[in-house]
Amino acid sequence: MTEVPFFDLRDMHAATGVQAEIDAAVLRVSRSGRYLLGPELEAFEAAFAAYCDNTYCVATGSGFAALELGLRAMGIGPGDEVIVPAHTFVACWLAVSATGARPVPVEPAEGSFLLDPELLEAAVTSRTRAVMPVHLYGHPADLDPIAEVAERHGLAVLEDAAQAHGAAYRGRRVGSGHAVAFSFYPGKNLGALGDGGALVTDDPGLADRLRLLRNYGSRRKYEHERRGTNSRLPEIQSAVLAVKLPHLDGWNDRRRAVAQRYTEAFAPLPGLTVPEVAPWATPVWHQYVLRTPHREALRERLAEAGVGTLIHYPVACHRTPAYAADRLTPSTGLPRTERLADEVLSLPIGPHLTDAAVELVISAVRTAALHLHDG
Ligand SMILES: *Cc1c(COP(=O)(O)O)cnc(C)c1O
Repeated sequence: MTEVPFFDLRDMHAATGVQAEIDAAVLRVSRSGRYLLGPELEAFEAAFAAYCDNTYCVATGSGFAALELGLRAMGIGPGDEVIVPAHTFVACWLAVSATGARPVPVEPAEGSFLLDPELLEAAVTSRTRAVMPVHLYGHPADLDPIAEVAERHGLAVLEDAAQAHGAAYRGRRVGSGHAVAFSFYPGKNLGALGDGGALVTDDPGLADRLRLLRNYGSRRKYEHERRGTNSRLPEIQSAVLAVKLPHLDGWNDRRRAVAQRYTEAFAPLPGLTVPEVAPWATPVWHQYVLRTPHREALRERLAEAGVGTLIHYPVACHRTPAYAADRLTPSTGLPRTERLADEVLSLPIGPHLTDAAVELVISAVRTAALHLHDG
């Protein structure tokens, strides 16, 4: 029996008390007769821009669309290169590919899950147009040195904050930058009841181009200025997200408390490496990710103890069939990334986890780790 599932949105909505509010919002929109590009979208975009300490929010049909259309709105396309983290969710690479540009992977720093700014400059070529830092697992990337390299080479920066709603970098909200993409996939820290995404920016031109691209390149019905697509955040999803947004900081606080408890308990255990928090970071723990060379054995033991786990991500992007034939790997290979794919293990985390559930996870991990070490 699974006593602590990896993640269950029904638990999350019920335990945090938002289910009734969500239901009321869905019903209200259902009866409103207005389902796209209406007042719910406008209200959520304004609220989310303010939450991010930024000026414009343009919501899209998914996080992927926010990345792809964001790149296209920056003028990136065929023949261009975009630097991406080697260790990330494959959507980052796919969004670059969808524009016709080429993703160029850069390894994480040793002991980190995030793009290593020290390796960034070596990946820049005459075709490089942009860099995409990803705030993976809810931990902000080291933005200042990345911005420095970007400025030196005239590169655009598009942040992927799909896992980092509410995080902060050196006291600045993730989302307050020049161009920051978010996902509202249901399991994200701020999630809809379906797909959704947004690009947050301080640039009125970029916001305007994105608004065109998400709606058939059209400002007024049947006037098409650009070859856009259809990627709009529905009114129902906007209303649900607006209900959840005021709860987000409290939910992230709870995630931080759980992560702290985990790290205190796991740091002394043999054969495990706990996730580091960089001095500049206020993370929001979208995932709590251990590293261990005994991953499969640990996973099995945790499953036996009723603790659900997942792997983010089991196959490095450059080794997925989608990219394996492309020879995007530098001559030095991507050894850190490949090792992470073999060693990472995500534990249950979320605002709904009770203290009892957290203690159950801790005792299961402790028992398993000590056992694996003896054996
Ligand atoms: C979820 C996610 C995306 C894609 O978002 P969707 O809304 O699923 O399209 C992109 N990048 C990262 C890092 C993600 O976690």
